[in-house]
Amino acid sequence: VPTDSRVTFDGRFARELPEMAVAWQADEAPEPQLLALNEQLAAELGFDPTFLRSPEGLALLIGTSLPEGATPVAQAYSGHQFGSFNPRLGDGRALLLGEITDAEGRLRDIHLKGSGRTPFARGGDGLAVVGPMLREYILSEAMQALQIPTTRSLAVVATGRAVRRETMLPGAVLTRVASSHLRVGSFQYAAATGNQDLLGRLADHAISRHYPEVAAAERPYLTLFESVVSAQASLVAQWMLVGFIHGVMNTDNMTISGETIDYGPCAFMDVFDYSSVYSSIDRGGRYAYANQPLIAEWNLARLAETLLPLIQDDQEQAVALAVGALEAFRPQYSGAWLAGMKAKLGLADDVGDDVASPLANDVLTLLQENHVDYTSFFRGLSSVVRGDARPARDKVLGVAAFDAWAARWLALTPNADAMDRVNPMYIPRNHLVEEALAAATAGDLDPLDRLVDVVRAPFDERPGLERYAAGAPDDFGSYTTYCGT
Ligand code: AMP
Ligand code: MG
Ligand code: MG
Repeated sequence: VPTDSRVTFDGRFARELPEMAVAWQADEAPEPQLLALNEQLAAELGFDPTFLRSPEGLALLIGTSLPEGATPVAQAYSGHQFGSFNPRLGDGRALLLGEITDAEGRLRDIHLKGSGRTPFARGGDGLAVVGPMLREYILSEAMQALQIPTTRSLAVVATGRAVRRETMLPGAVLTRVASSHLRVGSFQYAAATGNQDLLGRLADHAISRHYPEVAAAERPYLTLFESVVSAQASLVAQWMLVGFIHGVMNTDNMTISGETIDYGPCAFMDVFDYSSVYSSIDRGGRYAYANQPLIAEWNLARLAETLLPLIQDDQEQAVALAVGALEAFRPQYSGAWLAGMKAKLGLADDVGDDVASPLANDVLTLLQENHVDYTSFFRGLSSVVRGDARPARDKVLGVAAFDAWAARWLALTPNADAMDRVNPMYIPRNHLVEEALAAATAGDLDPLDRLVDVVRAPFDERPGLERYAAGAPDDFGSYTTYCGT
């Protein structure tokens, strides 16, 4: 395929780590139809959107016709799924098409999700469905607009093939873009092979792609680990601050780069609840909202285990060094979370943590006890500063408790304008996402396009968008999300 002269594909992952790459081809699609194209991202990557909309462009987006330099591979990885180790997961329904260099000179993976069965498919059909791929498109765009590190969605193309789920549903391929698809599970795979040379090459590949400054460190592999600890502590703090529940924080779904990956059973929380779980299969609540920092730390311990042989020959000393590095997770997470909470509450930097921390925790307790919508409450708080308490106060049944808390908070003279820059007005609310997906599946893409437009500017209040800012209607009921759909 003639791509676009500005875009050149490479196969660096497959070349440097052949033991972890199985050359494979995407399935043919009977009738490709473009459902969503991220024009901004396309431009950032150097693609001409007009080309991507053409039949040749669609074939590139779903991998049925290969641009020069592209060597599609299914990536091998392992993973702890809900705490139990599976040595052989890998891309069961996805392919890495190759890497390209974006307009800023950064290497980006172009990846296909839903491109057909691979040798890692196990019992799965290798396919993906229009609704869930558009869901990933919406949520990843919202995440990006909220300034939280994430993989991106370049396009969703319907394949024209029906996919068997509970009913027959239209199939699709999502073209995903990431700074890489290296996961904790990639390191677990390399470590489990017992091939030290492979493990070393994987670590060097990760350093070169994500943390090049680490190469010059005295102990580069320990510093690599420290870098991932920092990136994940910051990422999970940001999820917590926006009320995002990933839903399936298995080690194969945690990146080395610190980008959010795998928008399956995830959701943004409506009513604040520490124990929120949306995923249909998370019956024990392992991946509940409040558990996310602990799970991230647990996953990082699994990463540390794989790196021990690289950190130091003496394994006892390697363990001591790794444990020391992992101990940084809690203070880094707490620091990032409290800094974010102070920003959400409009507090100046000089407000002490001893004051800010109880203030933040107390307001969350208030929300939990009164079943208050998280996003709209925080957005409403800036109005309280401006003299109209209703947007926040009216959401709380325990008015006296709210007033007592607000008096403590207002005494610290919060900055309302600063609050509006960090508390989103618009998030991809579950009921709106479902509405957009149902319409799109039935052939009407307008609600999807509108929702994407809204969540792309989450902090800017615009007239006429009241329904996008409101909490879920009472009759929406409890929300359930699904993996692997
Ligand atoms: P996830 O829960 O999305 O992280 O997926 C876990 C594993 O299941 C990965 O190895 C996926 O490639 C695989 N998988 C999920 N859905 C399918 C499917 N429909 N067909 C084949 N493999 C799948
Ligand atoms: Mg996954
Ligand atoms: Mg998934």
